[in-house]
Amino acid sequence: MTETIKVNCPGCGKVVIWDETSPYRPFCCKRCQLIDLGEWAAEEKRIPSSGDLSESDDWSEEDLR
Ligand SMILES: [Zn+2]
Repeated sequence: MTETIKVNCPGCGKVVIWDETSPYRPFCCKRCQLIDLGEWAAEEKRIPSSGDLSESDDWSEEDLR
């Protein structure tokens, strides 16, 4: 009844077997994982972050003290 689950690596499309032999699943390897994470970070930088706003709020509050 044990069925091997296979997924396609989001980085390169290679088939990855979904078990403990693939520590980087759904990626086939660490390299593909890092590439994907890098794209994530790049996309977040493109969006004007609301995190900046709350950070400057904290700053002005501390300034008033
Ligand atoms: Zn890959």
